[in-house]
Amino acid sequence: MNCTDAQTLMSAAVDGELTLKEQKGFEKHILSCPSCSAEFEEAQKTKSIIREKIIRFKAPQSLVKSILKLSDSPH
Ligand SMILES: [Zn+2]
Repeated sequence: MNCTDAQTLMSAAVDGELTLKEQKGFEKHILSCPSCSAEFEEAQKTKSIIREKIIRFKAPQSLVKSILKLSDSPH
């Protein structure tokens, strides 16, 4: 696997969507290539930031829903 191959697989690798064979080749390349390794790390960081933002965005809404439910229920 060369850098171009690794770049192609990068986004799927971050999502954990590689086949076992791709995963192995990708990891091997990452270990031997500092520039792809750095890029992969960056991609993982970006993804976890996005995921955090989604969770933070959803949390207040579910809170609002549960508050609405509480006020709806008869006492
Ligand atoms: Zn590389």
